[in-house]
Amino acid sequence: MAKDPLETYREKRDFRRTPEPQGGAEAKDAPRFVIQKHDASTRHYDFRLEVEGVLKSWAVPKGPSTDPREKRLAVPTEDHPLDYAGFEGTIPEGEYGAGRVIVWDAGTYESPKDESVADQIDGGHVVVVLKGRKLRGGFALTRTSDDRWLLVKTRDDEADARRNPVSTEPESVLSGRTIEEIEEES
Ligand code: MN
Repeated sequence: MAKDPLETYREKRDFRRTPEPQGGAEAKDAPRFVIQKHDASTRHYDFRLEVEGVLKSWAVPKGPSTDPREKRLAVPTEDHPLDYAGFEGTIPEGEYGAGRVIVWDAGTYESPKDESVADQIDGGHVVVVLKGRKLRGGFALTRTSDDRWLLVKTRDDEADARRNPVSTEPESVLSGRTIEEIEEES
């Protein structure tokens, strides 16, 4: 039997304490992407792509850029369950990834390449076209070493060096709240 792709995700978390989902949602039509702003010990943006029933994930410390000249470090993290795409709230103190989370952008994506996205990830070079609220158009993720990828905007009509959505559009696309407006619940 194949290894449960969410095993690492579940091992890291105590679901009696954290409000994060345990997983169980099924894939629907167009694959989704989500970018969660995460105010953990170091703030970052979790870039997640739905691939074969899980969310493939990278932590991007500076967040995505719409300027094709900007290369953003993206560190791969464990696969997350599909229902994580709707998660917004506070991971309690003492739990893995403790801190506030908002859904900074979300939507669907497609890949212009013939190869499956799973195979592109294995090969270390992924091209996706995002249809989000803040981010649209092509983005490439390229592996430069085992635990280091670069996220770069593709040169297309949606590329725009003057935009800086990470700073000018800080709100959640789900709730309209900024991360500072998420209450320290738990
Ligand atoms: Mn994170």
